[in-house]
Parts: sequence; C-alpha cells; structure tokens
Amino acid sequence: MQVHDGQCGLCGHFGEHHAKSNVLVTILSSKQADVAVLDECGHPKHASLHLKVTPISGCDGFTPAVAN
Ligand code: SF4
Repeated sequence: MQVHDGQCGLCGHFGEHHAKSNVLVTILSSKQADVAVLDECGHPKHASLHLKVTPISGCDGFTPAVAN
C-alpha cells in the first residue's frame, strides 16, 4: 500500500515512543506499508488515549518524520 505525505506512516509521531523498528524505517524510505501494521500515535493529544493507527491513517497533527 502506498503511503502519502500527511499519513501516519510518514509522521514523526507514529510509533514515536519506542525505538524505530525496521518496519517504520522501511515505510519511511519506501513510502510503502503493509496495511496490517498498527502502531501507537505519540502525538501529545493522542498519547494518553493510546490511539492505535495504521500507516495510511492520518490527522491534522501530522509532523513529517525524520529518516533516522
Ligand atoms: S494520528 Fe496524526 S499525529 Fe498520530 S501518527 Fe497519525 S498523522 Fe501523526
């Protein structure tokens, strides 16, 4: 599945509270993701809710992730 700018897979808050896994790095570099991937959103407004999102989810809190 293609991941576009503005979607969780390319957002710095996606899985932000754990070390960047190979899965997340691969999504960033390839802009492709398995739709079955689910990770926690670390955005301050969502973190306490433990919101789980897929790489193709998204919200207005999108912040571009840095590759490393
Ligand atoms: S829900 Fe919003 S803030 Fe959280 S990872 Fe997705 S785009 Fe980023």
